[in-house]
Amino acid sequence: MNSVEPLSWPEIRTVLLDMDGTMLDLHFDDVFFRQTVPGAYARKHGLTFEAARDVVLESYQEQQGTLAWYDLDHWSSRLGMDMRRLKEEVAHLIRVHPHVLPFLQAVRESGRAIHLVTNAHPYSLDMKLVRTPIGACLDSVITSHEVGWAKEQAPFWPALTARLGLDPRTTLLVDDSAPVLAAARAFGIAHLRQVLHPNSGAPPNPVGQFPSIVDFRDLGLPS
Ligand SMILES: [Mg+2]
Repeated sequence: MNSVEPLSWPEIRTVLLDMDGTMLDLHFDDVFFRQTVPGAYARKHGLTFEAARDVVLESYQEQQGTLAWYDLDHWSSRLGMDMRRLKEEVAHLIRVHPHVLPFLQAVRESGRAIHLVTNAHPYSLDMKLVRTPIGACLDSVITSHEVGWAKEQAPFWPALTARLGLDPRTTLLVDDSAPVLAAARAFGIAHLRQVLHPNSGAPPNPVGQFPSIVDFRDLGLPS
């Protein structure tokens, strides 16, 4: 089902990698948002899990695609619960996807720059960086909270490009989010790959409008 399109590595100088669902298993975030948070909300308000889940999932939809959606403290005040503490309850589920670390090492050895570019809240980011070895392979880590726009919003990309001094023509973005890839493509990021299997606890997503990979082996290794 997935026909892998080889990357033109000689044309790529900079690699931008998303974190959740791309380098790390989205299973953690999925369990947190769909089970941990509704469960805690149910206990707080004396609701059934199903009733609490309806309320919580509806409130997620209000903010989708905005920076507020990714803001843990926004959700703490919106839902009246300490989201930072709740995240710690499922932190044991934080995991690097297979084949990511050898890829990071090979890209570094090839002399290319690697930047982690994420919508994750700085607290979630720190939680993940202390529990995984990915940080050691990165040149820099940028959150959309510092940039002021979410990655799926058009102004994010010129702001990021200016900040990192990127050449969009020689930049690769790997991300699991189609709206993020679409915003990057509209700005002119030339090399795009969509991760089709962000969550090990769910089946892979169908192939969409972007060249795709199932795991990092499909990116090949730069020479
Ligand atoms: Mg992602």
